[in-house]
Amino acid sequence: MFLVEPHGGVLVERFSKDNLGKIQEMRKLIVSHEDIINAEQIAVGSFSPLEGFMGKEELESVLKDMRLPGGLVWPLPILLQIKDEKAKDLKVGKSFALCVEGEEDVYAVLHLDEIFNYDLDKIATEVFHTTEEAHPGVRKLMHNGNCFLGGKIDLVKRFPSSLKYFELTPKQTRLIFENKGWSRIVGFHTRNVVHRAHEFIQLEAFERLHCDGLFIHPLVGPKKSGDFNPDIICKCYDLMVSQFYPKGKVLLGAFQNYPRYSGPREAVFTAICRKNFGCSHFIVGRDHSGVGNYYQKDGAHKLFDELGYIGIKPIYFNEVHYCLKCDQYVESCSHSESNILQISGTQCREMFKKSKIPPAWFMREEISRMIISDINDGKEVFVE
Ligand SMILES: [Zn+2]
Repeated sequence: MFLVEPHGGVLVERFSKDNLGKIQEMRKLIVSHEDIINAEQIAVGSFSPLEGFMGKEELESVLKDMRLPGGLVWPLPILLQIKDEKAKDLKVGKSFALCVEGEEDVYAVLHLDEIFNYDLDKIATEVFHTTEEAHPGVRKLMHNGNCFLGGKIDLVKRFPSSLKYFELTPKQTRLIFENKGWSRIVGFHTRNVVHRAHEFIQLEAFERLHCDGLFIHPLVGPKKSGDFNPDIICKCYDLMVSQFYPKGKVLLGAFQNYPRYSGPREAVFTAICRKNFGCSHFIVGRDHSGVGNYYQKDGAHKLFDELGYIGIKPIYFNEVHYCLKCDQYVESCSHSESNILQISGTQCREMFKKSKIPPAWFMREEISRMIISDINDGKEVFVE
């Protein structure tokens, strides 16, 4: 039994070997929290085979062909974008210490080998299918400057987070999977607390594919206002693992990453990341990584089909519904519309804010109670 190979064949690991004194002497470059997250994930191998931020040739190849220059599928630009004035006196060939505003700590070292400009509209059109600033990904791209720094990175320190305990690296998950003797592992990506529809999809995929294990891997990076806070997401899943999922068959990890809202391209990217974590299969829902109405609901499914086998097998799910007559979640059934029950994310949030427990077909009562109890304790359950 073997685990799938990392994307490109080798799991990247880039930790700085320089002593702290030498790093402290490097010129500091203030970057965003998201840039540090990218640097960390590159360094621990989640984005293998990337070893750093993309240069112009890589960017063009990714935009045009969804492949790295060597031909390996890679759909999403991973860029270090800064304002022109900040790039003015940076020198190619030098190393820079990456920090965030207001902190002394150095998180990563960038070995700068390229500084370039690029047409932002072109990036937006390819990646987000729009140049409208109403799109959160476009808005961020348009306001972060028109200068990009390419070069390898080395990690100095992982970004602190209350969820580091759950933030397993690809090397760690691979070790766990090997020790458990798993090779068929289905990965699940989410930005939400667990509800019955997701539980249905996870277990359905696990059983249908005769998997050895299920890897639950919620995003825990920066979120947008109104989203569930990552702490409560992990806490709820932790309860699921200890009480409700098949015993010993489910691993919970947390993925320090952030939504890019780039729909189909991001769906493939998130699958490649899970391949690096050791998953052989990956659940792809409808409008995976989408936002608003910018992408076709089955766009991700189509893109996977176009790209062909990428070393991890996507498992498609359409929207699932709870049917009163079937008394369970179904992908489709013969009963009429009037038997289909649904609760939207917004409705669910409103219920919680009023300490009202949603129906058990929608969410396990133990999960609902945990969320309401955290709200009553004054914890930040929703991102402000
Ligand atoms: Zn039915």
